[in-house]
Amino acid sequence: MSSLPTEPAVEARNLTHKYGDRTALRKVSMVVSQGSLFGIVGPNGSGKSTLFRILSTLQKPTDGSATVLGSDTLAASSLVRQKLGVVFQNSILDGKLTLRENLLHHGQYYGLGGRRLRERVDAALGQLRLADRAKDKVETLSGGMRRRGELAGCLLHEPPVLLLDEPTVGLDPVARRDFWDTITRIRAERSMTILVTTHLMDEAERCDRLALLHQGEVVALASPDELKADMGFDVITIRTTQPDALVNEVKAAYGWNARTDDHGVRIEVEAGHAQIGGLIERFEGRFESITLSKPSIEDVFFLRTGVKSDESGDGA
Ligand code: ADP
Ligand code: MG
Repeated sequence: MSSLPTEPAVEARNLTHKYGDRTALRKVSMVVSQGSLFGIVGPNGSGKSTLFRILSTLQKPTDGSATVLGSDTLAASSLVRQKLGVVFQNSILDGKLTLRENLLHHGQYYGLGGRRLRERVDAALGQLRLADRAKDKVETLSGGMRRRGELAGCLLHEPPVLLLDEPTVGLDPVARRDFWDTITRIRAERSMTILVTTHLMDEAERCDRLALLHQGEVVALASPDELKADMGFDVITIRTTQPDALVNEVKAAYGWNARTDDHGVRIEVEAGHAQIGGLIERFEGRFESITLSKPSIEDVFFLRTGVKSDESGDGA
């Protein structure tokens, strides 16, 4: 790539977008460094797709600007489109055509043709483990294969930057994990920068850096580990058949923040490693397991916004 290694892959400066009276993005700024896997995390309605439409030159921001490897999305939009591969939320594959036919069409759209196009289609199909399904109609493929097929389409013009807008929506957990393994591998094999939106916390955990988006604003921008460390507490989970009694005892004896949740008792405490031994002794015989963990990205999101990332934030 001709781009300087220090030049950001993507930069947004004070991007604001309004649909009529509704502000979908409010002064969003972020720098995505080359080679990173950058996650944009937020519930439905938080502005993720609007941001991606602006970055991919499909929408003009109301205010602010954005660049992709130094090219402005407005002033140099065709250059930006060459540098980007984009998987939108809605499929662009034609179910009645074979996967290979779809990819050939897609490549032609990017000005590729002849042997060079056929070679790239075959390489992309191979890399995405779809070679044996190339002659099948897309409508006969599983959801996971279709998503990989779309990814193959985006790779044909060999863009240095990929934008993936909620690429795993509608996939089952196995297909989701497989898709993430695939993009992690593609990133390494092609040294690409990947921006991905998600409202799923386990997916967010797999990113190098995250922007948490809430009602169109960036509320946090850091690595998953930094975000968790900022929380200043660990989580101790006690599986037990008597959660209410244990919650009361923990509160009375230690004054810690404790409550029941799906897993049993959840305790938030500083330096959990120093406390867990005491809890094991105290509750001997009254629990099935006690585990220590860092807060999740879900906890971080909830603390910063008061809402869960998988709930709709579209109340504005
Ligand atoms: P997300 O992708 O995070 O769900 P969107 O960018 O789609 O968020 O939407 C952000 C906000 O803008 C929401 O309140 C949504 O209802 C609104 N919105 C999105 N697209 C349009 C549109 N074309 N016209 C009017 N409002 C829109
Ligand atoms: Mg969206």
